[in-house]
Amino acid sequence: MLILGVDTSCDDTGVGVVELRPDGSVAVRANRVWSQAVHAAYGGVMPELASREHVERIDRVMQDALQEAGITVSELGAVAATSGPGLVGALLVGLMYGKGLAQALDIPFYATHHLEGHIYAAASEEALSAPYLALVVSGGHTHLFDVPQDGQYVLVGATRDDAAGEAFDKVARLAGLGYPGGPAVSEAAKRGDPKAVAFRVPLAGQSGYDFSFSGLKTAALLAHRAGAKPEDLAASFQAVAVKSLVQTSVRAAHDLGRQTLVVSGGVAANAALREAFGRTGLRVVFPGRGLNTDNGAMIALAGAAAIRAGRAPHGLSDGAEAYAPLARA
Ligand code: ATP
Ligand code: FE
Repeated sequence: MLILGVDTSCDDTGVGVVELRPDGSVAVRANRVWSQAVHAAYGGVMPELASREHVERIDRVMQDALQEAGITVSELGAVAATSGPGLVGALLVGLMYGKGLAQALDIPFYATHHLEGHIYAAASEEALSAPYLALVVSGGHTHLFDVPQDGQYVLVGATRDDAAGEAFDKVARLAGLGYPGGPAVSEAAKRGDPKAVAFRVPLAGQSGYDFSFSGLKTAALLAHRAGAKPEDLAASFQAVAVKSLVQTSVRAAHDLGRQTLVVSGGVAANAALREAFGRTGLRVVFPGRGLNTDNGAMIALAGAAAIRAGRAPHGLSDGAEAYAPLARA
């Protein structure tokens, strides 16, 4: 079965096609993302502009995805679209596009949680089956979920302030490294000394599994004012951020007896983070290329998992939700 996935939760218009084979395996057949450049001038995402751009672009992105997959629209067997969390006006564009398409083709529609999409992005590489631990590190989330059964999420830890990606973005901005921040910090860090600035691992010694990045951001600002080189600041910040994410996740995995850890979301593209998680001895699964930051294929992969699990499709009257926790602590 061919599943179309649509994500318009923020400022990327993403459409992907995933094939769900009779044996339950999946393959990403297409993944097209239009990243909106219009927001750069404002230094942040302007919700109204994001919605308008999605409306203007979505059909083009969809046609490109179908072409990449080498299929026509009539070959689709199901549609999945993000219903939350995200910017409501932006979400509504993809949601209504997906619903309209499903209705016109008379095929099932699956409203999909954005974070479940980020987690299932890793299914592009290896079959995901519970139990496992999932760390979502993105622009808006740093959430650690225990997944005792497929489709069941227990929040075991989260950031108390800034998300990891947000911290990368802010450190990049204060050090004048440009935008987007994550890749800029990662690039500058290659030329810097990770020991140049002595950052302390946040919440060291805690018994829980929370994260905190706002103190690091302030410490980075002070180091910047004290004359730290941008490359050294980037390398030192990246090293402590990665250490914090790895230490806490590994401790949780040991305490909960989980051998598999899924690490996904935009920050999972970070090479230093991938290397550090690779040394933990756990089975660590990352999303494939182009599937870390927001995209439509990850939503189709989550849709494929719902279909494989025999979950009922959603009605066409379900709405978009700005705030939609995947699980509560
Ligand atoms: P959310 O999913 O929480 O709503 P989002 O969808 O905006 O947030 P993503 O698209 O998953 O977030 O990820 C974007 C974030 O990932 C940005 O903060 C960006 O700086 C960060 N990021 C991207 N590439 C890298 C990298 N190589 N290293 C570190 N961070 C990165
Ligand atoms: Fe996201």
